Amino acid sequence: MKDKIKNIYDMIIIGGGPIGMFAAYYAGLRTLKVQLIESLGKLGGQLEALYPEKEMINVPGFAKVKAVDFIKLLNQQLNNYPVDIKLNHTVENVKKSDDVFQIKTNNGFFYGKTIMIATGIGPFTPRKLPFDVDQEVENKFISYYVKNPKKYKDLNVTIAGGGDGAIDIALELLDYAKNITIIHRRDNFRALESNMVKVYNSPIVLETPYLIKSIDYNSKKSSITIEKVHESDKKKKILTDHLIVSYGFKANNRLQQNWNIELQRNLVKVDQKMESTCPGIFAIGDANIYPYKQKILANGFGEVPIAINNAINEYSLTTNRNIHGIIQ
Ligand SMILES: Cc1cc2nc3c(=O)[nH]c(=O)nc-3n(C[C@H](O)[C@H](O)[C@H](O)COP(=O)(O)OP(=O)(O)OC[C@H]3O[C@@H](n4cnc5c(N)ncnc54)[C@H](O)[C@@H]3O)c2cc1C
Repeated sequence: MKDKIKNIYDMIIIGGGPIGMFAAYYAGLRTLKVQLIESLGKLGGQLEALYPEKEMINVPGFAKVKAVDFIKLLNQQLNNYPVDIKLNHTVENVKKSDDVFQIKTNNGFFYGKTIMIATGIGPFTPRKLPFDVDQEVENKFISYYVKNPKKYKDLNVTIAGGGDGAIDIALELLDYAKNITIIHRRDNFRALESNMVKVYNSPIVLETPYLIKSIDYNSKKSSITIEKVHESDKKKKILTDHLIVSYGFKANNRLQQNWNIELQRNLVKVDQKMESTCPGIFAIGDANIYPYKQKILANGFGEVPIAINNAINEYSLTTNRNIHGIIQ
């Protein structure tokens, strides 16, 4: 089969989120022949799709950077090397034969010597409230992320959750919302400590340890009822114009179940080289899992050179050292 294929890439990167974008740039820096495949019509992953207006504070080199601006910078960086970018292509299957991977997309086949999975959490599916909510109420009253903070101007907003997502949203809405209440089932929060200090010094109301029990939606005056954990007789009603449920997102990389790689909780299990259980398939960013993995950008970016340098060395990929000198 190998001899019949005209175009074989050294590396095909699946997923054009921030980590896939940086991987494509870094592969170009190492003079690999690289292709980047993204299912959406735009690069940028979760930053473009879920929180473009958020000011991120844990990206190296920036005290603060808006997610959408950071993606613009990654795009500029990526344009420095000739990466073949395929937008609106969803990878459906990956098959190996004769040392070459065949990538099947909804728009045709591509071939690569190595594969870099950077599919993040796959299609974004938020975790929802543990009870059924009428579809109309969900559409009008509940959100799972904040694309435009201005939408919450002068509203009473309740946020459910105790992780970074919930706390980030609360801080982002401080300049817009009239009142913000956070409901969390524990007294302790799992969010970044410096952000918690900001919350404790703000007018944000914390209701802990409480769980949301019901929603009373009305287009003019809505409320939610919360119940104290292990004390079902202690209930409170909170007047709320909008509820934001920030319980995180479920990994939904169902497609990868047929790619002949071991998955754990739907994520790609990798070793210290960021290689999956199938030789030649690597995984980086939110798509992979290993002990103590943190799903943050800095971590994903750090995995990029580990994976690419190992791919180059182990699979004898050709780097053109005459042009760019030796890059270790
Ligand atoms: C609300 C929220 C706030 C956050 N804030 C921060 C923060 O302040 N700082 C921080 O460091 N991290 C933050 N994170 C985490 C950060 O967004 C992720 O760690 C990061 O997006 C991971 O990048 P990625 O490229 O691995 O995956 P993603 O951003 O998920 O990108 C994956 C891309 O792959 C594409 N794809 C998926 N499947 C396929 C397929 N089969 N074929 C082709 N393409 C495919 C998707 O369309 C997507 O574009 C936040 C996350 C959330 C949800």
